[in-house]
Amino acid sequence: MSPEPAVLLVEDEESFVDALQVGLTREGFRIDVARDGHDALELFRRNSYDIVLLDLMLPKMSGLDVCRSIRATSEVPIIIVSAKGEEVDTVLLLEIGADDYVTKPYRLRELVARIRAVLRRREVPRHAPAESEDVLEYDVLRLDLDARRCFVDGAEIKLRKKEFALLSLLMENPGRVLTRDVLIDRVWGSDYVGDTKTLDVHIKRLRSLIEADPKNPRLLTTIRGVGYRLEATPAPR
Ligand code: CA
Repeated sequence: MSPEPAVLLVEDEESFVDALQVGLTREGFRIDVARDGHDALELFRRNSYDIVLLDLMLPKMSGLDVCRSIRATSEVPIIIVSAKGEEVDTVLLLEIGADDYVTKPYRLRELVARIRAVLRRREVPRHAPAESEDVLEYDVLRLDLDARRCFVDGAEIKLRKKEFALLSLLMENPGRVLTRDVLIDRVWGSDYVGDTKTLDVHIKRLRSLIEADPKNPRLLTTIRGVGYRLEATPAPR
C-alpha cells in the first residue's frame, strides 16, 4: 500500500463531501470524489484505490449496483454509508461484498477507525495475526490458540470448546460484522441443524466472561437482525 492510502469517496451530498475531504486529508488519506455512480465506476476504472467509501442513495445508479459492479472485477475494500432512517438490508450488503457499513450521521473518528480496521484486515492474511501465529490479542482479550487458554485483563477465564472457537473467530475479524449464518457455519459446521438460539446462548455466556457490564457490552456488540461484531474501537472502559 502507498504511504497515503487512496480513498474513492462516492457521495452526492456536498456537506459530507466537504467535511470528509478536510477530515480524511488531515488523517493522511488521499481522496478522489465521485458524485454519482457512473463517475464512481469511471474513476475506479482509471485509478487504483485502497478503499471505497460508498453512499447508498446516489443519482443515476444506486450504491448497491456500484458495489456489485466493483466486486465483479475487484476485491478492493468497500465501506457502505447509509443515511439514518434509510431501509438497509445489511445482510444483502455483506452478501454483495461490502466489508463494513456505517450510518449517517457518524463521527469522523469512528469512520477513520473503521477504514483503518478494514485496511489492516486486508494487509494481514487471515488467520495470521501480525505478532505471533499462536496468540490473538485484542483490547483486554488474549487468546493462546495452541494452549487453548483465554485471558481477560491478564486473568484467565475458562472457555468451553465452542465458546473458544466463537471468540477466536471474532478476534480474527475485529470491526467486522459476522452474520449469524457465518458464525453458526464456522463454529458448529454447515450441517448444523440445531436451534439458532444456541448461538445467542454462547454469546451471552461469552459476554458474562469478557464484558465488565454484560448487559451493556462494550466489546462484543449485537448488530440487530444480522449478527455480531467485535468492536474495532471499543467504547472506553
Ligand atoms: Ca446520497
